Amino acid sequence: MKPVHDPSTLLRNHGIPITAQRLAVLRAVSARPHGTADAIAEAVRAEIGAISRQAVYNALGTLVEKGLLRRIQPAGSPALYEDRVGDNHHHLICRACGKTVDVACAVGKRPCLDAEDNAGFQIDEAEVIYWGTCPACLTQATGTGAAKTVLKISESVNSTHNPTI
Ligand SMILES: [Zn+2]
Ligand SMILES: [Zn+2]
Ligand SMILES: [Zn+2]
Repeated sequence: MKPVHDPSTLLRNHGIPITAQRLAVLRAVSARPHGTADAIAEAVRAEIGAISRQAVYNALGTLVEKGLLRRIQPAGSPALYEDRVGDNHHHLICRACGKTVDVACAVGKRPCLDAEDNAGFQIDEAEVIYWGTCPACLTQATGTGAAKTVLKISESVNSTHNPTI
C-alpha cells in the first residue's frame, strides 16, 4: 500500500513547486517525527547527498508556512518538526531525556479550544505540552537511588584513619 501522504502529491496539492530537497525534507520528517532541524538535515544529507543547512531550514520554513508540517517549540529545546498537522494533538515530553510522544487532546472533542474567555479571538489551535518523566527514565531513576545508598554505606566505614599524636 502506498502511504496516504505521498510527498509529491502533497506539494502539488498545496501549490508548492516540487524540488528534490523539499521531497527529501518531507520524507525525513515523516520517517522521524519530532526531529530537530539539524537531525532532519542529517537525514536529508544521507538521502540526497550534499545540501546546505540553510537549504533545509528554508524548506522547513516553507513547508510549515504552507501547513504541510507543524513546528512545536518546547521551552529550552530547539524547534521540533512533524508531519501530523491539523488535528490539534498535543505532546508528552520527558524532562530527563527529551523523549517526545504524541497524545490526543484531552478527553472530549478538543475541549482546550473552548477557552473560558476567548477575548474575541477565533481559536484554531492550542499548543499543549505535558512535561514529565518517561517510563524508561522512571525505571532508571529507581536504579540510581539504590546505587547512591550503597555508596553512602561504604563512605561511613572509611573513618578509622584518625592519627593520634
Ligand atoms: Zn525519559
Ligand atoms: Zn506530534
Ligand atoms: Zn487539547
